[in-house]
Amino acid sequence: MISIRGLTKRFGATTVLDGIDLDIAAGERVAIIGPSGTGKSTLLRCLNYLDRPEAGVIRIGDLTVDAATAKPAQILALRRRTSFVFQNYSLFANKTAHQNITEALITVQRKPRAEADARADAILREIGLADKAGAYPAALSGGQQQRIGIGRAMALDAALMLLDEPTSALDPEWVGEVLDLMRRVAERRQTMLIVTHEMQFAREIADRVIFMEGGRIVEQGPPSQIFDAPQDKRTESFLRRVR
Ligand code: ADP
Ligand code: MG
Repeated sequence: MISIRGLTKRFGATTVLDGIDLDIAAGERVAIIGPSGTGKSTLLRCLNYLDRPEAGVIRIGDLTVDAATAKPAQILALRRRTSFVFQNYSLFANKTAHQNITEALITVQRKPRAEADARADAILREIGLADKAGAYPAALSGGQQQRIGIGRAMALDAALMLLDEPTSALDPEWVGEVLDLMRRVAERRQTMLIVTHEMQFAREIADRVIFMEGGRIVEQGPPSQIFDAPQDKRTESFLRRVR
C-alpha cells in the first residue's frame, strides 16, 4: 500500500538518506531504531515533505510523488495522507487542546467546522482529556500535551501515521500514559512508522523492526529476530549499547 524507492536526502555535502527502499502494508506497524544522527527523523520528515528529498519516489495508495517532479498539489495530497507526531509535541501554543485537534481538520482536510468540532470532542474523550478541551498547552503536563499531539494525529485518520520518538522529550513520570495511548492506536491497526528508543514497546507493538545506521536500512525483520537474533554486527552492537 505504501512504497518508498530510492529516497535520498542531502544536507550540503552530507548524504543523510542514502537511497531508502521500504514497503509498508496497510495496517502494518513498523518501528525504526538506530543510533542518533542516522537519518531516522529525516526519513519521517521526507515522507510528508517537512524536509524535501533530492530523489526518490513515495507512493501511498493511488498517490505517487516523485521528488524529481513533485508539484505543490501532490505535496499537499501527500500531507493529507499522513499524520505526524513530534518529539517535542509541536502544539500550537496559542490554541486550546480542542483547537489543536480541529486545526488541520479544517485547514488541511477542509472539513466543515461542525464536523471538525464533533471529531475533536470524540477524540478528547477517547484520549481521556475531555475536561481539558479549553486548556492551552502551557497549562498541560508533558504527558497531556503529547496525548493531544497523538489525538491530533488520530483525528486525521491518515493512511500513514509518522511518530518521531514521541516519548523521548517526556519526564519519566509521563512516559507510561503516552505509551498506553500509542498501544491503543496500534491495536486498531493504524498503519504506523514509529521511531522509538523504547525497545520493549517496539517489541510489543511492532510487526516489523528496522535498524537504520548511516542513512541506510541495515537490517529489518520481526521483533523476535531483531532483538533476539540480529543478523548484522551493527544491529547487535547498537542493541548492546542501549540495553
Ligand atoms: P536521527 O533522527 O537518526 O537522530 P536526523 O535525521 O535528525 O537523525 O539527522 C541525520 C543527520 O542529518 C545528522 O547528521 C544531522 O545533523 C543532519 N541534519 C538533520 N537536519 C538537518 C538540517 N536541517 N540541516 C543540516 N543538517 C541536518
Ligand atoms: Mg531523530
